[in-house]
Amino acid sequence: MGHNNHNFFAPEVFSMNSEFEGLELNLGGCNATSLAREFGTPLFVIDEPDFKFRAQAWKEALEESFEGSAGMVFYAAKAFISVEVAKWINDCGIGLDVCTGGELAVALAANFPAERIELHGNNKSEAEISKAIAVGVRAIVVDSFYEIERVARLAAEAGKIQKVLLRLTAGIEAHTHEFIATAHEDVKFGFSIASGAAWKAVEEVQQRASLRLAGFHSHIGSQIFSTEGFAIAASRLVALLAKYRDHFNSELPELDLGGGYGIAYLPGETSVDPLEILRELSHVVRSECAKHQLACPLVSIEPGRAIVGPTTTTIYSVGTTKNVQLDNGKNRRYIAVDGGMSDNIRTALYQAEYFAILANRVSTDDLISSRIVGKHCESGDIVIREIELHGDISPGDLLAVPATGAYGRSMASNYNHVPRPAVVAVKNGKARLLVRRETEADLLALDVVEPERSI
Ligand SMILES: *Cc1c(COP(=O)(O)O)cnc(C)c1O
Repeated sequence: MGHNNHNFFAPEVFSMNSEFEGLELNLGGCNATSLAREFGTPLFVIDEPDFKFRAQAWKEALEESFEGSAGMVFYAAKAFISVEVAKWINDCGIGLDVCTGGELAVALAANFPAERIELHGNNKSEAEISKAIAVGVRAIVVDSFYEIERVARLAAEAGKIQKVLLRLTAGIEAHTHEFIATAHEDVKFGFSIASGAAWKAVEEVQQRASLRLAGFHSHIGSQIFSTEGFAIAASRLVALLAKYRDHFNSELPELDLGGGYGIAYLPGETSVDPLEILRELSHVVRSECAKHQLACPLVSIEPGRAIVGPTTTTIYSVGTTKNVQLDNGKNRRYIAVDGGMSDNIRTALYQAEYFAILANRVSTDDLISSRIVGKHCESGDIVIREIELHGDISPGDLLAVPATGAYGRSMASNYNHVPRPAVVAVKNGKARLLVRRETEADLLALDVVEPERSI
């Protein structure tokens, strides 16, 4: 990494208002020790101005790059949502993409305007669909033939005409730094274009008086850095818009290209620049539309990770350490923290990589090969598989892991009956709880002892 033995603060992976100042890490003007003392650990610390800045940046970038064809930025709630965060999103004037009744409930609890909510999901329940129709969401993104029937029926029962988009699979698998274009799709989401299912879905929707087809949606994956995958998806979607125009003699007004924009997790990495990627996407969509002599539709996007991921840092307390001699003769130091796979499953689930820093003091001790593990009864309970950390890190020290805002708290579990961590917002030296820490009473609250009965 090319750094000396002093704590290596890599600003590119920490939230905007973070610094290593004096003797310790400072997040939004609050030092790590005070945050840990006040709120306990593990703790998710979200940089409020940074979150708002990123949400605004995606909005402005969409408007600047697509100009008159800018649709809406829908923040993907599944990355992380709370009532207060939904209010921040609302204040920015952007939309919200929810994919369950639970996420919708959070939005409604925040008085989030339904006309800026999109409902997603590959297996929405009738209750979820009915609720979305009743509150008047902007659009339902329909994922299957069953759902065409369900949404049509429930909208008719409610006496409404529901605006829908069709979720299409464009035959692209996007991964970090690479993508694979295939003719056939082996995923649970959406209607495949190649098989003809997508066109059949168009015809089915057209036959339902209670549905109004507004356009097509595609979400090709996550943590993507290049435009190639988006470009292929856009060209296939635009081709279908043209087919629609040819058949029905009118043009569908909307295209939603989903989320998936990549962020920096490790020192030296760079998050996708909103304006840069959206300018390229705009160019692709416009030239594909020109090819088919179509007017450019309103283009929407759904960034989740790219807005919330970089804004949040997890603070852990170190509980134990041990040194292990490996078969190759080298040593590895295990550092166990007070959380783990219950607050960050991404390392175990996707082999995701993270960075960490000693947060509560300066050390000049030698950097040695270390593995940060959690407290769960599972060998795969690893936060960081391999990292160089100071050899004197010991119980009571604080470790900070940056870029944990997306799919951290939102994927948290109660494995081993561990209460899920709190989320604290920091801004200008002030801190406030957004989500309180669970208690053992919360965990026990679901246990019921009741006499058996006939059913
Ligand atoms: C997950 C998801 C997103 C957000 O993905 P990010 O990688 O967090 O940007 C957007 N749209 C849909 C449909 C999704 O499933």
